Amino acid sequence: MTASKPEKTLKDLFGSDTNPSHILPRKYTLDSTIKFRCHPGVSCFTACCGNINITLTPFDILRLRKRLGLGAPDFIHLYTTPLYLEKTDMPGVKIKLNEKNRCPFVTPEGCTVYTDRPTTCRYYPVGMANFHERAESKESLPAAEQFYFVVQEPHCKGHEEEKIWTIREWRQDQGVDLCDEMNREWMALVMRRKSFGIQATLSEKAQRMFFMASTDLDAFRSFVFDSSFLSTYEVENETIARIKADDIELMKFSFRFLASALFGTEDLRIKPEKIQAKVTQMKEQQGQAAQRAEEAYRELVEERERLKGELEQKKK
Ligand code: SF4
Ligand code: SF4
Repeated sequence: MTASKPEKTLKDLFGSDTNPSHILPRKYTLDSTIKFRCHPGVSCFTACCGNINITLTPFDILRLRKRLGLGAPDFIHLYTTPLYLEKTDMPGVKIKLNEKNRCPFVTPEGCTVYTDRPTTCRYYPVGMANFHERAESKESLPAAEQFYFVVQEPHCKGHEEEKIWTIREWRQDQGVDLCDEMNREWMALVMRRKSFGIQATLSEKAQRMFFMASTDLDAFRSFVFDSSFLSTYEVENETIARIKADDIELMKFSFRFLASALFGTEDLRIKPEKIQAKVTQMKEQQGQAAQRAEEAYRELVEERERLKGELEQKKK
């Protein structure tokens, strides 16, 4: 007998608002086919660009703000609203809908940022899920089973179109594979945090660090290159050259940093001499504290002896 346990995946972040009753009761593989087409001729064109939650990943933010020619602070201020990711205490952002509850990038002609649209928009209507099948034997390792599912909502007329795709072709066409690759490590951080449950909380400093690294790559760059970061962490010269020249490399590096800073992974190590200096400093502080405690104790003993002396004098 086997037991299966749902594993949180990209689907949770990008499909959390999907009504489960609209998910077709079938597991799809990459070679399964779907009948779907979305184009300006459908009667529902852009109907799905309103009344939605579009959580943005660091990759989404980077692409969108470059497309719009904005720095991260302006983009965050103008186009997003804060949220906690996946019911964790990790702060993130989603697209701020306009007064009509519509995406600010939608027009009657369609999406104005189409080639740089967020991951959530690319996923629809095909989601991805993972299940971990556990065999009975303790020795056997859990085997991940990945599958896809299709969302069919009444308002979406794309399912009535005749175009047939395999899931693989659909994902390629939508550029989902690239998004998955870019989002994977960041998503893993969120899911890792979620697995800790609500009992453990991130410090305010850690939350600020996560938000900065996830939303503002320029601020993270400055944190790396204009602070004592490079003299504190072990970073290979080749990596330094790559993250200096390429934003995507810098973004991926920020995930490594967050994994080690938030979860103590070995993704990034503090230089041994820095650890040694810290140990010495702590020892010194401990030594000073012990010395202060000894002095206080001596003073107390002296005071007690003085009082004793006074009492004895009075008795005479
Ligand atoms: S970003 Fe584009 S595709 Fe996504 S909701 Fe907005 S208008 Fe629609
Ligand atoms: S509702 Fe479906 S068919 Fe209509 S625009 Fe959105 S994705 Fe395309």
